[in-house]
Amino acid sequence: MQLALSTWPEVESYLTRSKAIIIPIGSMEQHGPTGLIGTDAICPEVIARVVGDEHEVLIGPTFNVGCAQHHLGFPGTMTLRPSTMIAAIHDWCISLARHGFTQLYWFNGHGGNTATIQAAFAEVYAGRSLETPPAKQPAIRMTSRNWWELPSVMAKCKELHPQGDGMHATASEVAVTYAAYPDQVRTQKLEPRIAPIGGFTDADHYRANFPDGRIGSDPTQATVKAGEQLIEVTANALWADFQRFIAH
Ligand SMILES: [Zn+2]
Repeated sequence: MQLALSTWPEVESYLTRSKAIIIPIGSMEQHGPTGLIGTDAICPEVIARVVGDEHEVLIGPTFNVGCAQHHLGFPGTMTLRPSTMIAAIHDWCISLARHGFTQLYWFNGHGGNTATIQAAFAEVYAGRSLETPPAKQPAIRMTSRNWWELPSVMAKCKELHPQGDGMHATASEVAVTYAAYPDQVRTQKLEPRIAPIGGFTDADHYRANFPDGRIGSDPTQATVKAGEQLIEVTANALWADFQRFIAH
């Protein structure tokens, strides 16, 4: 079930049996010469949709531009400032809360979003706590999970790509996007095969240190087949984790 493909009476009816929604959140940023710019949004989106279809869970629209200032040295990258993103996530949460959604599970595809998502949650909670007179709306609860950190997913990534999975433009995330869009597979060779590792600050610093955009990865080993396996394993892990979240 997708919010964008539902009518308002269908959402009203959904709310009589569930107050929970999964919202994919990612980024629009370079993923090396062979990875799609939408990778971090595509991964949580396709995995969440599997769960949404199999278990009749409502999947929200993908929050698809995140904190990616450090990738702006590469054409195509888009970013939000952390302050803009906090404000936007806050408004997404409050919009959903108004209708009665009280369990918001943000399913994240970009490590660089994590701190800002937590700051946005703090903003939502503070807004309710500071309300005078005390808030009449029911309390909402939010969580955020990185897809690759769900139980058993990291092990599957390592099993599929024991060497050069990497930290950015990973073989695993590129494989998931190739499984989602098999006509978008890129096949060129990369040099060096495994990219360097290290830290970064701003966009110029990043590009100087990681000239083709990758960090520590060899995404040329990504295949549709590996991506299909990762989608299956991660969708199962997401469903289990989501059930734990809504049970409390
Ligand atoms: Zn990524």
